[in-house]
Amino acid sequence: MPVQWVVEDPKEKNVWWPSEEMKKRAWVSDPKIYEEAARDRVAFWEKLAGEGLEWFKRWEKAYEWNPPYVKWFIGGKLNASYNAVDRHVKAGKGNKRAVIWVPEPPQEEPRVLTYNELFLQVNKFANVLKSLGVKRGDRVGIYLPMIPELYPAILACSRIGAPHTVVFSAFAPDALRVRLEDSEAKVLITCDGYYRRGKLTDLKSNADEAIKGTKVEKMVVVRRAGNEVRMERGRDFWWHELMEKADPWCPPEHMDSEDMLFLLYTSGTTGRPKGVIHTTGGYLTQAYWTARWVFDLHDDDLFWCTSDIGWVTGHTYACYGPLLNGATLLVYEGAPDYPAPDRFWEIIEKFRVTIFYTAPTAIRMFVKWGEEWVKKHDLSSLRLLGTVGEPIDRETWLWYFKNIGGGRCPITDTWWQTETGGTLIMSLPGIGPFIPTVAGRPFPGAQMEIVDEEGNPTDSGYLVQVPPIVPGMLRGLYKADEKYRETYWLRYNYRYYFPSDGAIRTLYGCIRVTGRVDDVMKVAGHRLSTAEVEDALNTHPFVTESAVVPRPHDLKGEVPVAYVVLKEGRTPSKELEAELKALVRERIGPIAVPEEILFVPDLPKTRSGKIMRRILKALLINAPVGDTTTLLNPEAVEALKQVLASRKAQG
Ligand code: ATP
Ligand code: MG
Repeated sequence: MPVQWVVEDPKEKNVWWPSEEMKKRAWVSDPKIYEEAARDRVAFWEKLAGEGLEWFKRWEKAYEWNPPYVKWFIGGKLNASYNAVDRHVKAGKGNKRAVIWVPEPPQEEPRVLTYNELFLQVNKFANVLKSLGVKRGDRVGIYLPMIPELYPAILACSRIGAPHTVVFSAFAPDALRVRLEDSEAKVLITCDGYYRRGKLTDLKSNADEAIKGTKVEKMVVVRRAGNEVRMERGRDFWWHELMEKADPWCPPEHMDSEDMLFLLYTSGTTGRPKGVIHTTGGYLTQAYWTARWVFDLHDDDLFWCTSDIGWVTGHTYACYGPLLNGATLLVYEGAPDYPAPDRFWEIIEKFRVTIFYTAPTAIRMFVKWGEEWVKKHDLSSLRLLGTVGEPIDRETWLWYFKNIGGGRCPITDTWWQTETGGTLIMSLPGIGPFIPTVAGRPFPGAQMEIVDEEGNPTDSGYLVQVPPIVPGMLRGLYKADEKYRETYWLRYNYRYYFPSDGAIRTLYGCIRVTGRVDDVMKVAGHRLSTAEVEDALNTHPFVTESAVVPRPHDLKGEVPVAYVVLKEGRTPSKELEAELKALVRERIGPIAVPEEILFVPDLPKTRSGKIMRRILKALLINAPVGDTTTLLNPEAVEALKQVLASRKAQG
């Protein structure tokens, strides 16, 4: 019998708590940790920084706040790659697996990188970068799919103190170019090509196209797919050729705690992506401890975070966090439905994955494919599930809990942003509670509050972070001071960090994040979150997913309009529309009832899988749709336009 990691709340429906087994195993199971951290948050983080990382030199001052700029562990010296690799090797864990890599083509063999192997490759590639003229402080672009070379590439940058800027490999040349221009990267690391659903993508051609007119002088190309590529002499170099000649030892640069570790662009859900700066000491401290406590990482765990390295989730939980902990990561190259929709479950079964962390958009897809695919596999190795990226609706949460977690595993719904570096609101596995649609409590040492327009505490309003802001927070937007102030600090006059998300205080003092503030509607004087209405719609058995946006209304200010995607084989009808409206009326009340329900084939999403509500909103009022470079499925926008046009034609 697999271990039961959760128990049901005796009184509340759909609330779970850690079982005794979970509490016993967990790093933290005593809720006193919250008070202890709150007593002196700077001292708390100092303790964590000292215990979690190895510093070449200890800091002189822990925290400095010149609003809106923060510094942590000032004067401290350390190196990210040393902490992620060297110290595990030194501790005799060199033969432990750091990365288990699963290629997409099912006939290809998985590859394993032990900490020893990773150590050698990081050192060699650090020397390669140096030989290409990369110096401390230079930015290096990384445009790679999920292949093993990613790890030495990233860690070699941090070894020599060159901030990396990773760009999602499925971005088109234009999107890559914008980021390379902004970051002024000198070198770009890419590969010949890769497989997605069995189809080859020629990445090198994209890179060739993207670097035109940028400051990129050299490219290193990993041979992955073996497709024919054009190499420009003096500019392009094969990874394996450079590595063959490289020296196996490169001393780690002693970086200042506040030196930039990486630059990463946000997903672009709300507009043009922002270049977020993360520094070394603070980010690593938070990555280490959140990975350890939130995912309850132990030596015998196998952690699979399905996020691409192109997003912050990939940086913190598919790279730095677990490696800093000396853990083993599972990395999969390809699509979840290749060759069949059970590929993920097959991987979990085969490798005995214990922690699985994914996004609501992926789970909604699994729901659509059906539980038959899951049932074919033994998922009893799983101990903990996680989700991140968007609010998750109750039906999807419960499906995940029951079908993937077998009703045994807690789900930690982790709220955070590219800007926060690590997750900030969640339920810790040994403490709980685990409640659908509810993220949980602020991580110990973080103070997150819900405030009203004026900044006064309330139970339903805007989410804010109260300084001292946590060490892993962004240190600004690259070359955009004004934008940084405007986006996060002016709203509450430097008193709070404002993430632009709405929140509600719910059961057991937990926080439910309701979505972006611009996704909040004001209907006849009532504040209504779009997520809540979507939640209600999604409980209908015919609905796959929905997106609700406000439309201006003469009398009520705004009214909700719903875009609804139906399950395969279900067709729109007047009756269904009436049923859906009744469902919302019954669950939330008459003001929340969508004025109109639009049945559409698909919703526009970012490449990170998030619904782009701003486009849905713009379409309703015939406004321009704005920046669409981060859009995954431009064809969905065309289809929506047709639905709207035909509706107009019908009057
Ligand atoms: P951009 O800032 O460019 O518009 P983005 O906000 O989508 O893009 P990310 O930093 O990847 O870029 O996403 C952070 C946002 O995702 C949060 O501000 C929040 O709106 C949403 N989010 C993340 N995790 C959760 C969660 N567990 N519950 C609810 N919302 C979440
Ligand atoms: Mg954002």
